[in-house]
Amino acid sequence: ENVVNKIAAGEVIQRPASALKEMLENSLDAGSTQISVLVKEGGNKLLQITDNGCGIRKDDLPILCHRHTTSKLREFEDLQTLSTLGFRGEALCSISFVSHMSVTTMARGAQYGYRVNFKDSEMEPPGPRPVAAVPGTTISVEDLFFNVPTRRKALKSASEEYSHILDVVGRYAVYSTGVAISCRRAGESRPDISTTATGSRLDAVRAVYGADVARELLPLLLEAGGGTGPEVSVDGPLGLRVEGLLSGANYVTGKKTVLVLFINGRCVECSPLRRCLEGLYASLLPKAARPWLFLDVRLPPRQVEVNMHPTKREVGFMHQVEVIEEIRRAVEAKLLASNE
Ligand code: ADP
Ligand code: MG
Repeated sequence: ENVVNKIAAGEVIQRPASALKEMLENSLDAGSTQISVLVKEGGNKLLQITDNGCGIRKDDLPILCHRHTTSKLREFEDLQTLSTLGFRGEALCSISFVSHMSVTTMARGAQYGYRVNFKDSEMEPPGPRPVAAVPGTTISVEDLFFNVPTRRKALKSASEEYSHILDVVGRYAVYSTGVAISCRRAGESRPDISTTATGSRLDAVRAVYGADVARELLPLLLEAGGGTGPEVSVDGPLGLRVEGLLSGANYVTGKKTVLVLFINGRCVECSPLRRCLEGLYASLLPKAARPWLFLDVRLPPRQVEVNMHPTKREVGFMHQVEVIEEIRRAVEAKLLASNE
């Protein structure tokens, strides 16, 4: 059975960056305002994430890594609306099958913190040991895929895996205003990414992607159709709200398109939207660099594909053609106005 579990885990978690993405989403779900990531050997050796979120109660620790343990699906309704970033309780379970994992956590209001190691979804004896801690959670993932030789071999060099990690952390750092996010390599005193909880989104772009990018970005705001709340049904009217930042005619830095896309708080890919925007930039600004875009898209939760598998970063949603067209038109208007 463990073999099956390991194979399944290797599909949910493909590389250090995908484990980190899951843990980062959990920290954000926990209401953290400070998240720091520490990485050894591109995450092949160690991934550690520390947050100041709600913590995990001692009683919840034994089942933390059981499949389908989640604090985020209180009702079926929630499953339908995917109202939080996490779902289905697969991530920690999977990670525990393919790494050495330890958790140190202190729940808000608790007297002690606890530390416990996990293996194959279970706590290792002797179970949670009380430790001095501060409210929040630290999860350490060591030796990822030590027991899955095919995945272990497929891991790239530390620097390549680390660039995937920085990509994930950078995207969430730009999205998550109000949260200080940092990412540092073990042995280095300076973090490679560091944002503050009080800075603006543009400040975060500057910290992650550099001043040359941040300087040239135009703000975008688009609201179309009905609301974007959970009350809007699947076949209801188009409901759409987009907040964005996008490069304009003076932007010369980009060698490849960067599309930092969040839909309902999840970092996703949407190839049709990407192709559409690349085409638009190529036709309007043929001499400009490849575009840089950040889009925070809100859709009625029921209109986003609910069966999204953790590995499927590609998202599906209702009214896709209309939504993409609305975004295309808004970006076009912005670019034309700025190019006058
Ligand atoms: P999901 O996010 O789908 O619920 P996970 O396997 O990612 O599933 O996490 C399982 C549960 O562990 C979460 O629902 C949450 O209750 C708890 N958890 C995980 N990470 C944290 C964290 N950093 N802070 C507080 N609780 C956490
Ligand atoms: Mg999760």
